[in-house]
Amino acid sequence: MTKLPETLAGSPEENEILDQEEFFASPPFDLLSIPVAGRLLRWRHARTLLQIPLLVISVVMILQGLLGPSISPKNLATVLTWVHFRGALVLALLCAGNLFCLACPFMLARNMMRRWIHPRFNWPRKLRNKWIAVALIILVLFAYEVFSLWSSPRLTACVILGYFAVALVIDGLFTHGTFCKYVCPIGQFNFVAATSSPLEVTVRDHEVCGACHTKDCIRGRREPSSQLAILQRGCELALFQPAKVGNMDCTFCLDCVHACPHDNIGILSRLPAGELMSDPQRSGIGRFSRRKDIAALTIVFCFGALMNAFGMVSPVYVVENWLERQLHIASQATVLGLIFALVIVVEPAILLGLAAWITRTWAGVKSGWLAVAVRYSYSLAPLGFGMWLAHYGYHFFTGLYTIIPVTQNAFAEIGWPVLGDPRWTLVGLPKTFVEPLEFGFLLLGLAGSMLIAWRMAEEDSDDHPVRAFTPWAAVCILLFLASAWLMTQPMDMRATMMAG
Ligand code: SF4
Ligand code: SF4
Repeated sequence: MTKLPETLAGSPEENEILDQEEFFASPPFDLLSIPVAGRLLRWRHARTLLQIPLLVISVVMILQGLLGPSISPKNLATVLTWVHFRGALVLALLCAGNLFCLACPFMLARNMMRRWIHPRFNWPRKLRNKWIAVALIILVLFAYEVFSLWSSPRLTACVILGYFAVALVIDGLFTHGTFCKYVCPIGQFNFVAATSSPLEVTVRDHEVCGACHTKDCIRGRREPSSQLAILQRGCELALFQPAKVGNMDCTFCLDCVHACPHDNIGILSRLPAGELMSDPQRSGIGRFSRRKDIAALTIVFCFGALMNAFGMVSPVYVVENWLERQLHIASQATVLGLIFALVIVVEPAILLGLAAWITRTWAGVKSGWLAVAVRYSYSLAPLGFGMWLAHYGYHFFTGLYTIIPVTQNAFAEIGWPVLGDPRWTLVGLPKTFVEPLEFGFLLLGLAGSMLIAWRMAEEDSDDHPVRAFTPWAAVCILLFLASAWLMTQPMDMRATMMAG
């Protein structure tokens, strides 16, 4: 393998990752090296070019949401947000990587704002973690259910507007990529999902970095004469390329690519989820095993997927009614809050706590039970991603063509029916095609999670890897079965017009 310069040579775990990369992909595919797309992405204004259409679509969605039809399957705000955007997001993460953050319209608005408003504050040290984002993800999932966001174009438009407002306020006050790194719930979702993506923004040759004196990928490139004017900013998310491992916290913004004076950064192929198999020191993050906040994010990512799917199948109404009767609660929000607490907090606490305790006592793993739970919780990321893929993929494919009549209708509504009368019978792909795909995603996630748990068990217990692995395999299989059961239940076709 490529010999690292001494200053950059990593721990055995870090080098093991490099070994794996070399083993599985030698030489790796580099998206930036392919003729047309690569050239386009290396262009300095590529990100802006990708962001402009999304910003325009966001503005159209806000306007249609506020002024257009109030029936959700007829409104672009609800159809695009809850059917197409979420599905396209997870499919892009599966096939490439964090492409949504690359084309993020909120960051385009922020960059425009920062031409006039320069942030003055640093994000407080105590908040430099994922806890706020964890709370926000739960809040968004809860609000989605309580306010039936999918059925209200007005509320959906307000959510998009609110998102722009919060991004602008946070990044108008605080320096660097504060909103992306510590606040944005979509970004955190993407970071966890992207650990299973096949591409990563990373250095092409570590020897070149070893000989590099400027480190522009993190510092940014400045005007040589003044050293003050920034020609190209470095990584706003504090990821130093030579020590960066994996996709966590990487927005695929490509600032580092443009800043590197040696053209030494590419978008390289890698083993999906391979970054979860070991626990090296990661630039800007540290070790996963010491980050309880990122472990909590991964747990919410995984159990939130279960809750989100559970919220739209018929049995949830049975559970809601039962809880209402048993506890004499009239408020639907309180009942839902209880179900959320059970699925996203109590259930993982019991399952992971029990699995960690068994791993310690049965396999003789020395670390405390909390440390074991934190470490192995990362193995759930691929399964969680499989669950989101199955769920969002279902809505995306079964509602794929709804975009056509809704767009026709939007043109007709403004008195310009150039696309003809809306063909409301266009809906999407048949369930017979979509259902096997859903199970395929779930199986893929299960296989990924089991593999990672096995690698962790092998590392933790030379004598009894099977004992260390078994409880986590049981957790994975339980979650898989729960998801598979949910997928077989009658599901609400939210924000989708039924054919016929
Ligand atoms: S600027 Fe380029 S060559 Fe220098 S350390 Fe960063 S990635 Fe490596
Ligand atoms: S600048 Fe940072 S966040 Fe952007 S692509 Fe490079 S490593 Fe990722």
